[in-house]
Amino acid sequence: MCIGAHRATLTIFALFLGLALSPLSVSAQLKDQHSVEAIVAALKSPIPPNLVKEARDFDDKLMSAGHMEGGKVYLVTDERSARANAMVRKLLEAMGEDPSHWVVRILDTDPPVANAFVTGGKYVYVYTGLIGEATSDDELAFVLSHELGHSLLKHRARAQEDVTSTIAGLAVLAAMLSKKHKDDYLDFAKIATTSYSRGDEEEADAIAVAITRRVGFDPLRGADFFSRGKRQQDKTQQENEQLLVKMRQEVQQAQTTCQQWTQQYNSSRQYQTQENANKVNAICRDAEARRLHYNQTVQRYNLAMQQQKLDSFFATHPQEQNRIASIAALTDYAHNRRDLQSLSKFQQSYRVMLALQKVDSVLLKAPAPAATAPVADAPAKTPAGPGLAEQLAQLKRARDQGLITDAEYERKRQQILNRY
Ligand SMILES: [Zn+2]
Repeated sequence: MCIGAHRATLTIFALFLGLALSPLSVSAQLKDQHSVEAIVAALKSPIPPNLVKEARDFDDKLMSAGHMEGGKVYLVTDERSARANAMVRKLLEAMGEDPSHWVVRILDTDPPVANAFVTGGKYVYVYTGLIGEATSDDELAFVLSHELGHSLLKHRARAQEDVTSTIAGLAVLAAMLSKKHKDDYLDFAKIATTSYSRGDEEEADAIAVAITRRVGFDPLRGADFFSRGKRQQDKTQQENEQLLVKMRQEVQQAQTTCQQWTQQYNSSRQYQTQENANKVNAICRDAEARRLHYNQTVQRYNLAMQQQKLDSFFATHPQEQNRIASIAALTDYAHNRRDLQSLSKFQQSYRVMLALQKVDSVLLKAPAPAATAPVADAPAKTPAGPGLAEQLAQLKRARDQGLITDAEYERKRQQILNRY
């Protein structure tokens, strides 16, 4: 998902910054991949065949290797899989996609990973950690819709022409330069890790709001997933800082003890026995060891903090707070509590909504009861009922009322005709 895991990419970014300058200036002439026109074009275009092939190859490789990014992954087919599959199906139907063309894989890891990702071509991967971590269906729906949003917006294909997606480009460049890990880097730079730009992420969130609303989930409740993550991060940082303060006090105490013992040892000849010398030495060695350990820990902590700052600077996801703000605004818009123009300060969210209007997207239609209780299947259950003309008219009405998507209409119409 792109929820985390930017660190590897970032290291590569830092390493190859110099080398990357010339390819970047070439691509700078490409047009803005985040304009309304670009989003409209992406919404209208099918998933490119090369991405479908890449995704299939990746899946074959993942299934046979059983590991990813150095960690083992296990395919799971239990009730967690049923839950995620049912969820993805609902979301795809709301998007007007045919779920039968999509593959959903549930991957178990140790330790758990609260994440999911969609490859360019119709493969959805959900980690069991995400299913366990999501406290409501709204959250699971939002995270998965976000991933499907990347696919609907063809972010992987667009990233290849995008001046802002430099990190992804650099990861691929690094892969070409690094013979040893060539395959790994290529796979994960292109498919598994987050190689989306921050604009892409905001767009995917906007699509997620539209999808989850249409299915009947609460998009804002879905954003709880991110605020909880942020709170956990803040808490960990606070705990680390408290630990450092405690360590520092212990070092100071050990140093004081060392000084006191040394002074006493030096104060009178009667204290200067071999036994006392050994004791003073041991106490002072301990103080010194603690001091060194403390300094190393502080150094590591500062480095981690710098890395975190760098991460949030280059982070492909919008900062959590901005993210929550735009999801809240979009949710209000979706429920007619504010107008489209008022979204303009959330630039990519606004553009996505404009683009959805331009293509008259099914995602803007009223929440479809079909998504939870499949209306589209109703005619199939009453084959002896109405005649062909009536069935087709009924189906057409359902589509015109926005109860079913165009794709569902077409599929159902074909089924009725086939049966006839
Ligand atoms: Zn994402």
